[in-house]
Formats: sequence, C-alpha cells, structure tokens
Amino acid sequence: METAHAAVTTRLSDYQPPAYLVDSVNLDVDIRDGVTTVTSELALRRNPEAAVSDTMSFNGEGLVIRSLALDGKVLEEGEYRYENGELLLSGLPEQATLISVVDIEPEKNTALEGLYMSNGMYCTQCEAQGFRHITFFPDRPDVLSRFCTTVRADKKRYPLLLSNGNPVEQGEEGERHWVTWEDPFPKPCYLFALVAGNLACLEDSFVTASGREVALRLYAEHRDLDKLDHAMASLKHAMRWDEQTYGREYDLDIYMIVAVSHFNMGAMENKGLNIFNTSCVLAHPATTTDAGFQRVESVVAHEYFHNWSGNRVTCRDWFQLSLKEGFTVFRDQMFSADMNSAAVQRVNDVDFLVNHQFPEDQGPMAHPVRPAEYQKIDNFYTLTIYEKGAEIVRMQYHLLGAESFRKATDLYFDRFDGQAVTCDDFVDCMEEVSGMDMGQFRRWYSQAGTPILSVTSEQSGDTYSLTFRQQTPPTPGQSDKQPLVIPVRLALLDKAGEPVALDDTGLRETVLILREQEQTFQFPVGQTVTPSLLRGFSAPVVLEFDYRADQLATLLAHDTDGYCRWSAAQRLYFAALDRLVTGHGKAEDEALKLAPVLEQVIERAGEDAAQAALLLTLPTEVALGDRHTPLDPSAIHAAHQQLKRALGRALQAQWLSLSENLLATELQMDGVAMGRRQLRNLALDYLAAGEHKEAARIAVELFELPLCMTEELGALRVLVHHRLPGAELALKQFAEKWKEEALVMDQWFSVQASVPGETTVESVAALLEHPAFDWKVPNRVRSVLGALAGNPSAFNTDEGYALFTRALATVDALNPQIAARIGNAAARLHKLESGRQRAFRTLLQGVNDKASPNLSEVLSRILGSR
Ligand SMILES: [Zn+2]
Repeated sequence: METAHAAVTTRLSDYQPPAYLVDSVNLDVDIRDGVTTVTSELALRRNPEAAVSDTMSFNGEGLVIRSLALDGKVLEEGEYRYENGELLLSGLPEQATLISVVDIEPEKNTALEGLYMSNGMYCTQCEAQGFRHITFFPDRPDVLSRFCTTVRADKKRYPLLLSNGNPVEQGEEGERHWVTWEDPFPKPCYLFALVAGNLACLEDSFVTASGREVALRLYAEHRDLDKLDHAMASLKHAMRWDEQTYGREYDLDIYMIVAVSHFNMGAMENKGLNIFNTSCVLAHPATTTDAGFQRVESVVAHEYFHNWSGNRVTCRDWFQLSLKEGFTVFRDQMFSADMNSAAVQRVNDVDFLVNHQFPEDQGPMAHPVRPAEYQKIDNFYTLTIYEKGAEIVRMQYHLLGAESFRKATDLYFDRFDGQAVTCDDFVDCMEEVSGMDMGQFRRWYSQAGTPILSVTSEQSGDTYSLTFRQQTPPTPGQSDKQPLVIPVRLALLDKAGEPVALDDTGLRETVLILREQEQTFQFPVGQTVTPSLLRGFSAPVVLEFDYRADQLATLLAHDTDGYCRWSAAQRLYFAALDRLVTGHGKAEDEALKLAPVLEQVIERAGEDAAQAALLLTLPTEVALGDRHTPLDPSAIHAAHQQLKRALGRALQAQWLSLSENLLATELQMDGVAMGRRQLRNLALDYLAAGEHKEAARIAVELFELPLCMTEELGALRVLVHHRLPGAELALKQFAEKWKEEALVMDQWFSVQASVPGETTVESVAALLEHPAFDWKVPNRVRSVLGALAGNPSAFNTDEGYALFTRALATVDALNPQIAARIGNAAARLHKLESGRQRAFRTLLQGVNDKASPNLSEVLSRILGSR
C-alpha cells in the first residue's frame, strides 16, 4: 500500500516545464505470482524549454528498488534520494540513460491505480497518476515519449499479453511467453496500458477514409463474448462519424478494447488499448437496459474520439483536463444526437447537467472548469470539468457556427499534433479562425459557479422589451465575479404558440449575446407573447423568469424547442411541489391543475414517446430539495409522494392505457421501441403510485415474461418501490436468475437501495452483508452507496448517516478514489436543517480524522462550508 503523505496543494500558477524530457521508454514487465518486476530504460534529454538544471525528479509510489543505473553505472544508495513518492537524481549530463528495476505487488493493489488484478487478469489504470505505481517516471502529461513494452507471463493462465501500439515480436521461454508492443506515437505515461489475461475476442475490421484497414478487437471474459456486438457497431459508427464530422482518421493498425470488472471509472482511452468498465462495453437485450445500450454507444464513442482530442493533442498539465474532457464530451454528445433523437439527447444532457453539475457548482466543491489548484487530481474528474466543460465548447460551436468551428478544430489538431497544450491554445484557434475577440468568453474557464440570469419583460405599445441581469454567486475562494458572455437563443410565441417576427425582416428566432451585467433588448411586437428563452439550452445558466402558468402551458404544448418544452414542464412541477412543501397547496388540487396540460402531452406521445416520457417525469426529490433551505428531507419526500400519487389518480385511465397498449410483441432495439418502453415503465410507475388495483398484475405479468431487461427491471422496480404484492418473490427470483451476471446484480442491489422512505436504511444494511456484496468492486459499492446517496429520505436519517459514514471509512481503506467520489454525497451538509446537520457533521468529522488524502480533500471542503 501507498504510504499516506501529508496533503500537498498543487497550483496552476506554479507550473514549470520538466527539467528533462524522456524521448523513449523501454519497458519490460515480468509478471509472476505475488511480485511483478518492472525494468525500464529511459532515454533522458535536457529540456531546452526549461531553466538549466542538472537535477530531475521522477515519481514513484510504493516501488521496491532492485537496482538503478545511470549510463551503465549502478547507483549506490547515497547517490539518489527516494522519499515521499519522489526519486531525485542530481548531476545529470545533457543526455542520459536511466535503467531502473523495481518490484511491485499488483495482487495487493485494491486502489485500482497502476497495475492490478481484476477477476484473474492483470490490467492497468494510469490516468491521472497511476503510472508512478508501476515504475519511476516523470508522471506528468507534458512529458511525451515513445513506448516499447515487453510483457512476460505464464503462457497457460495468461495467453493474451497486450499493450499500446502494434505487436512487433513474441516468443516463448518454457512455461512462459512474451510479446513486445511498439507505439510509434509519443504519448504521456497516463495513456500507458497493459493487459495480461485469458479473454475471448470479437474481431472485426474498419477501412478508413484513406483506405487503410484497421483490425478492431474487443476482449471480454469468455462468457461475455455474446455481449460485444453493440460496442463493436458503436465503435464503427464513431470511427466513421469522426472522419465525416471532424476529418479525423484512426492512426494505428489495431484498435482494442478490454472489458474489466474492477474499474474506478467508466472507461479509459489508452492509446490503441482502451480499458473499459464492463458496464460501459457489455450489452445484450436480456441483461442490459435501453439506457445501458445508449451509455455503451456514447462511452465507446467518447473513448474513441479521445484518440485525437486527448491522445494526439494532449493536456499540458492536469489543470487543463477539460481541454480533452469538455471537448470530447461535446463530441460524444453531438455523435449521440446524430445517432438518435437529437431533441431527446439534448434534454437528457441538460437534465444531467442541471441536476448534477449545477449543485456541484453551487456547493462546497465548486471549482472553475480550469481549476487554479488541487490536492488530489483524482478528485477533479468532476461534472464541472466534463459536463460544464462540454457546454463551454458548445457555446463556442454556436458562436462560430458549424463551418468556422470545423476550421478552428482543424487548425487546433494540425497545429498541436503531438503536443501537450492548454485550454487557452484551444480558444486561440477559435479566435484566430473567426476573428472574434474571445477575451471575455475565457472567463468561463476561470470563473466557478452557475450564473443566474434574471429576465423581466415589459410591453409598451408596439414594443416588447426584455431585460437581462446576470450575476454569479460567490464560490469558495472566489468572491468577486465578473460578467460572462452569455448567448441567449430566443423566440417569442403568440397565443397560438407560433413564433412571431422579431424584426422587419421576418426573423423568428435569434441569438442575443449578453456581455454586461444588465442589458435590455427591444422588439417591435405589439401583441401579448410568451418568451421562449435559452432555446436548446444555449448557455449553462439558471434562468429566472416569472412565467405565468398559462405561458408555461403554451410553451409545453407548442414550443418547437425540445429543451424549452421540458423546462416548462419542470417549472410547472416545481411550482406545484414547492406549494406542497411549504404547506400552501393540496396535492389533489395541484394534480387537477396539471392534468389537462399533461393529457395533451400524453395524446401526442405517439410522435415521440421518449420525449413524452421526459416531459411526464417529475423532478427528483434531490432536485426539489435543492430549492429549499434549510433542507428538510422528510417534508420534501412527503410532498413528492403526494403529488405523484395525486397525478397517478388524476390520470389513471391514461396511465392504464399506456401501460397496456404500449406492450410490444417482439423485441426491437431502435430508438422508437426504446422510447415506448421508457414511457410504459413511467406509466406503470404512476399507476402504482395512484394505488390502482391493476398495477401489481401488470407489473407481475411483465416481470414474468419480459422481452428485455428494460421491461424486467422496470417491472421489478415498480413492484419493489411501491411495495406491491409479489415484490419479495420477484426480488428472490431475479437474484436467482441473474446471480452469475454481475452487472445485472448491480441493478438488483440498486433497485432496493433506492426505494424512497426511511426504512430503506435497514435494507441497505442487509445488502452490505449480502454474500454477493463485495467492497472491492467499485460497481457494486456504487450500486448500493450511490443509490442510497441519491435517495434523500433514507440517506438523511440518523441511521442513514451512521451507515453511510461507516461504509465510507471501509471503502476509503481499500480504494481512496472511490471513497472520495462517494464522499461527495455529503456536499449538501450545509443546507440541512440544524439537527440533522449537527449529527451528520460529527460523524463526517470522525471519518475525516482518519481519511486518505483523497477523501480528506473532499470532506474538509464540505466540513469547512457553513
Ligand atoms: Zn474522457
């Protein structure tokens, strides 16, 4: 295990180029039971960009040194210093060769960074700083080297030996064998990967636009071979899309993906050898939900797109993480929009951003998309870096227009190919191609927090005016905020929901570019209109406008913009729920008011069932809670349950008909069929919430004869969450049927841990004792603790806090990265009403006193906020 060092803060302003570069790396990884020996030969060269120095620091964590040799001369113990994860060498010449031989113990690596074991196979995770657990190296993204890697292991148990690039040589030595891989493209060490195992392979090929044939190989455990087709199809779509949309071709002869069951993240874009969490690559209709299918498609594409946005052009330092992640998320979102319904895709992306990234940006963990400092970079793989980063790239796309944006990305890829660069370099290309001044726009990268955009309207004779006021609330370490560039796409709808002309040219939609704290715009419009604001969610801001209920009904019924329809529905739900939370309304009355509007949505569901499902889905309890300070989760829960039940009753005929009439007779996996299943699951959920007597029967029938996992799991969820007759039996049958399928069992755990209500804490305690629960598998840990964290009425109880903090400490001892991520669930501490806050604070303090640096960075920020 790594020895815990004191927390050290790294600052962007302290950036210095490395004293030495590593032109090439020769690695020899000799895998034997218990101990793996790593020999590395580094070709060092003084960095002409750095201040002259003869001292170089190499990172290395938990390495047992067998020998170190500089230019053929063995270094004695006094000739180097190895402490606190750093190897320091002084007196280096202009050029030198460093050979190190170290031992590591991958079998004992439960943190899952560096080289470790997962279900009998050896694999690696090096981003952000895993490579230093394998060998000595300047573990920073601005050191790009050519890697040549030889992997040696037992022939029988590990017939497959993989690394980055192309295989160039192989051989046998008795019971053992070896393979040498060469990667011709210089890369930072975080993109290094290695796999040794016994895996099945799905093979295919792809011919690039310029006619080169690339071998595509997807690897998984033998029993999962039939679950790789969807990932393969997605990969080929992504390869073609990137050629057509960005002019980017794949560059090596082989592209490989390996599925791994023990994995901290979703997937990793290592050059030529992606390593994936099984949950992001395996897909089969019988075991994977429709949402799972869509996730596989987008993650496979995301990691593939990194080959250019991340690998060929990489980040200078980890503060620039969004350079590759924000851009690549934007690319995968646009890809998914092209593959599926673009309107639904956009709402899903916005829904995720608003309900997860906004709270992060408004709480103790708020940080800029390009942070100024960090303690553990692992903690900055956040929604802000990824999702808000993608919104910032999207705004640039819309500011420039598709054609100029493509010219700018061409320039970016060509100019910086093979280099490690910054977010500013990216924006420079946008600026250069468009001739626009992006100076003020850059604040989006450095300023944390979600801007609030308050809008007021005024009708005066034949002029309609809109006044926009922007303000970004203070965030930790940033009290003064400056105005941002905010593009607001807008239309004005008449009473019939038709957009009116905004000027005398007949323009019916426009984009206003806000730059100042307050700005007013006037339109020659003489009639009463409803503003359709921020169409397509044109900027990541909180939009405040005092809509009347009839205006929201107009937007929901008639707006052609998918986001604005969804946003109108959310506003209607929130208004009703807020009245229930504060005791100013009755659920039955609220449901009666909502019913006619929702009926219209249901009537039009045939046009796009997935969109209808999004419009009919209530905001979560978490989202509702975020609107109320101090936060009383019990009151939130009660209001939510009441409205859902009342809507279940008010529209029960519609829910019943949707539950029964949307049944398909044969399985289809296209977007239309998926949308219908999503809508039917939702209808069944409402039917059960309204305590309709048919709900249990329909759910049981669906559960017993499902066409696919979406149906089976949807039915199970309804049975369990509404505590319907048959729920216990269904849980038992499900577990028996799927006990060999880890990813399905994750869903089984998650369904139970997400049942709303206080008593769920007891079931969660039992789940943690279940024989199939494993603290060492991140997916399993997340399926229980992640679900509990998203279930406020269970989480926010004395028992919930006690269980959560105990579990957090257990996870932290095994895997600090995962513990830190789960620890974020405590970020609403400062919003809780005082009794709960005191109890939770004391428990969290107790965990923090003994926490790893990863977890401690998160908990200290949360505990420090009041
Ligand atoms: Zn990524």
